[in-house]
Amino acid sequence: MTETAAQRPTWAEINLGNLSFNFRSVKQFIGGDIGYMAVVKADAYGHGAVECSKRLEADGVDWLGVASPEEGVELRKAGIRLPILCLGSFWDGQESLVLNNDLTAVVYLIEEARLLDRAAKDARITANIHLKVDTGMGRIGVRFDAIAEFADKLKNFTNLNLQGIMTHFAAADDLRENAFTNEQIKRFNDATSIILNKRFTPIYFDLANSPGAIAHPDSRGNMVRLGGVLYGLGGDVLPQETDKPELKPVMSLYSKIVHLKQIPSGTTLGYGRTFVTRRDSLIATIPIGYKDGYSRRLSNRCRAIVNGSFSPVAGIVSMDWTLLDVTDVPNAKVGDIVTLMGTQNELSIKAEDVASALDTISYEITCGIDRRVYKRFISA
Ligand SMILES: *Cc1c(COP(=O)(O)O)cnc(C)c1O
Repeated sequence: MTETAAQRPTWAEINLGNLSFNFRSVKQFIGGDIGYMAVVKADAYGHGAVECSKRLEADGVDWLGVASPEEGVELRKAGIRLPILCLGSFWDGQESLVLNNDLTAVVYLIEEARLLDRAAKDARITANIHLKVDTGMGRIGVRFDAIAEFADKLKNFTNLNLQGIMTHFAAADDLRENAFTNEQIKRFNDATSIILNKRFTPIYFDLANSPGAIAHPDSRGNMVRLGGVLYGLGGDVLPQETDKPELKPVMSLYSKIVHLKQIPSGTTLGYGRTFVTRRDSLIATIPIGYKDGYSRRLSNRCRAIVNGSFSPVAGIVSMDWTLLDVTDVPNAKVGDIVTLMGTQNELSIKAEDVASALDTISYEITCGIDRRVYKRFISA
């Protein structure tokens, strides 16, 4: 949702300056001369794909990665000109959508290659494709031990050009899994040799997501595909034990106190009456709920920052509303800003903190912020 003059005071602040900072910081950390694909799938992990992509385009990233052709089209409509890779390939019937919008498809099924080749032939063009090799993730991709056979079939398609070969790590974030990550790298290198021996001429060799790029230098190939670290979400997806670049969170989440009341001791609050005041309390109502991506499982478990103090969530988070116990907050008033994620004075709550209360990772928190929450972009 875009910002208008008067609206519900619940918003995500997206600091594009921090996005740029993180990109520079990661580039400096990695050093050397490699390509950078910014992964902006899922609306840039909830941060706003169009705005983030424009910023990253200006900052000099080489590629953008999206999940689907639909996501790529959204970027093209917004005027983005960078090469765009559809990481999840395309669905039957979307061949012309891919070609007409100058999108590049990941390919891992021979039938998809056939469809794209035919559409490219009709359009009298050669379509670039990137071959996905499954080296151990077990998700999409041609299994590493079936590459030779797949490559032979691919040779028949004269309107396709194999521009890149790639794989994806299963556990690069966990150093105890180093042997497996190294095995994935080896399988990828073997698959690459097969492809080169069959006289394909790919120019991109990419394996690494954020934890790969940061923690496994020999996985960087000649391009890295970065999502999480660009959004400052390194805390729970990079190994704790490795050196890392400095990262700043890009998303903060705010609301305001819209109703404030004194509640006597011994009163129950919210659905199911799960919270009972143990003292005379000051309770604030804020207009955010589980529809907004503030999970119901945060009920009685999370906290927010009001006027420089932590305030616990009181009772069950409902669809549109949440209650905070602000009894200990100095001078709480209607209209005060509530920081649900972000920094206020010395205090901060990160997406990683919210995630750990929910037994998930920070990506799911930022991705889960609903479009009903408008975004305020800070471009400094
Ligand atoms: C999402 C994704 C990435 C980015 O992963 P991060 O951990 O966010 O850096 C890279 N490659 C592929 C294929 C992906 O799907």
